[in-house]
Amino acid sequence: MWSRRQFLGKTLLSSVAACGCAGRGFAATEIPANIEAPIFQLTDVEKERHSFFLGGLCALVYERWAIDRSRKETRAAYAEAFPGHDFCEYGGHNIGAFVVNGRNEIVCFALNQNRRENNPLAHAETRAIARTVEIRNSEQYRAGTTRANYDDLLVGFKVYTTLESCTLCSGVMDLANIGEVVFAQEDPGQHGIGNLLYEWGRRQGAHGASRPIKADFFDGYKHLSDARDIFSKGDGPKGATAFLQSIEAYKAFGTIAGTFRQTKSTVFQENAWVLEHVQQQVSWRLAQQCGNDDA
Ligand SMILES: [Zn+2]
Repeated sequence: MWSRRQFLGKTLLSSVAACGCAGRGFAATEIPANIEAPIFQLTDVEKERHSFFLGGLCALVYERWAIDRSRKETRAAYAEAFPGHDFCEYGGHNIGAFVVNGRNEIVCFALNQNRRENNPLAHAETRAIARTVEIRNSEQYRAGTTRANYDDLLVGFKVYTTLESCTLCSGVMDLANIGEVVFAQEDPGQHGIGNLLYEWGRRQGAHGASRPIKADFFDGYKHLSDARDIFSKGDGPKGATAFLQSIEAYKAFGTIAGTFRQTKSTVFQENAWVLEHVQQQVSWRLAQQCGNDDA
């Protein structure tokens, strides 16, 4: 696999120049399969805080777990493994996102709803951002203040997502000037597009897209990676969305949700209110009906 340095130092800029000036395409051998996430030095306080948000987010996805009842094998497998359990109707892939403001308050939670909305744009991150923009505009309207430009509405905001973002969501976050995106699982099928946007912007002298933070410090990251490895050894499709319909994935989310529910104290005092806030938000959102996820 290409390292980030190899890719950025050699391939990207030379290939882009060749492509732009001479009208030639990329040579297939020059295109890496995946762009690795940049490495950021996070403090232990930041790691703990990110882990609380991701833990709460995974707990919500677990409790809202939806199975595609139109797939006979899926229906049968879940009925056998979890007899009598009433899963949500399948609105879309089991992916969730939080938008969090600069004061570390959750502003919005959204699930992927491709199926329910019959809309290829109905991804968790994109839905959460669209809703947050509405919320911000409404706040400013009510307050009677001068409306911030759309470019500035979400400056200082973060996105937490259970799966590394796709091309659509990475682009939306870039345009919305979301500062950071923290993800609980990698998705090799997206080729590290968020990492590329971030690095490419910086190389061009701009601020870059959202900082992509791979949460490998989060316990849940390992649970999900291990479950994905087990799933990948089986027959059938290997992609992230197939994994997210599997019993292995559901169990991994359940383990993470259990740990989150049992967390009663923080290592760092400054994160105590964050833990309390995320737990309250999760409880409140679980009181809503299946699919009624935006608030
Ligand atoms: Zn997406």
